[in-house]
Amino acid sequence: MAEHIEYTNCLLCGSKGNNKIGDFNFCGSVLALVECERCAFAFVSPRLSAQGMNRFFQTYTHLTNDKIEFYRINKLNNVRFDLRLLNRALSPGRLLDLGFGYGLFMQHALKSGWNAIGLEISTGACRYARAALGLRVVNADFSRIPFRKAAFDAVTLFDSLYYNHDPITLLRQINQTLKPGGVIILRVHNRIGAIKWVHGINRNLDSNPFFIKDHIYQFSSRTISALLEKCGYKVSGIYNSRIPYFKGQIASYIIWNGLLCLFDLVRFVSGGLIVLGPSITIIATKMDGAAVDE
Ligand SMILES: [Zn+2]
Repeated sequence: MAEHIEYTNCLLCGSKGNNKIGDFNFCGSVLALVECERCAFAFVSPRLSAQGMNRFFQTYTHLTNDKIEFYRINKLNNVRFDLRLLNRALSPGRLLDLGFGYGLFMQHALKSGWNAIGLEISTGACRYARAALGLRVVNADFSRIPFRKAAFDAVTLFDSLYYNHDPITLLRQINQTLKPGGVIILRVHNRIGAIKWVHGINRNLDSNPFFIKDHIYQFSSRTISALLEKCGYKVSGIYNSRIPYFKGQIASYIIWNGLLCLFDLVRFVSGGLIVLGPSITIIATKMDGAAVDE
């Protein structure tokens, strides 16, 4: 077995046993999506090692101005929605945006009165954020967050937790950087029943349009809540994230927004329990006396 490939147990329950959903090719290796036989959490094993994923991410930045504008515009709906959730939970204070990408959320948070700083693995994205946007940013990976304990009122982590090899260590580190009563907001893809069903039928993941190859974990509202509780947080709400707008794709945008209205209705009628959107935004609070140094 190549040295950049590794096997892993279930992140949530530690079980070694899993059932394979399907194989796929990624960065020259054959990897597999599996589901824990005890708790049904879905993840990639074997997967690329952290070094293998880091190499992939350094080539993953799209730093022509057109590409940056494309990615910034398509996140605008999400940024406005997630910032509203944050502002409803807390009045502005110190904010850390982990994996800020092209800096759109930080820019909007600053306008809203937050004192924001960002941490990002991509050197190119940091250069852009400093030079073009004038943002305060640190270029580092997430293995050791370089801020003192209880430094922040809020931490945001959008569209990145499923790339991280060790989300438990990361979430516990974030917990330590939060003040008592501090808030974390995350956005992750949602492994809803329909996607699970499509993966079950189409086990050839290379040709499966609903399968995203660089995500090493596939969270759902149930599994992300379990993970956050394990790391010292209390989940206060899970919402359907807004639909990104991909320039020129008006028809699919209208259809997805129609579905989103339906998903929001289902969420409302179920008292927040059934969240069917393709991505979910989770807001959680640091628990008092959270034991985070296990
Ligand atoms: Zn498990």
